[in-house]
Amino acid sequence: MDQFDRAQKLELEERETRIAEHQAMVPSGKPSTHCVDCLGEIPKERQAAAPGLRCTRCQSAVERRNGGPR
Ligand SMILES: [Zn+2]
Repeated sequence: MDQFDRAQKLELEERETRIAEHQAMVPSGKPSTHCVDCLGEIPKERQAAAPGLRCTRCQSAVERRNGGPR
């Protein structure tokens, strides 16, 4: 494993910790009003159309990273 891989793994772990912390603050069953990734506000239209934990930009970034729809 080279240094770049290690840095990337560390970053991912940090991100997951941050998300877990943020989710712990959000009462379950309630749509999230703020993105768990950038902590930016999620527009109401977006919440209504596709309730989730991320804003449009972060959600598509995650889907790209997971090899989702191209
Ligand atoms: Zn975001």
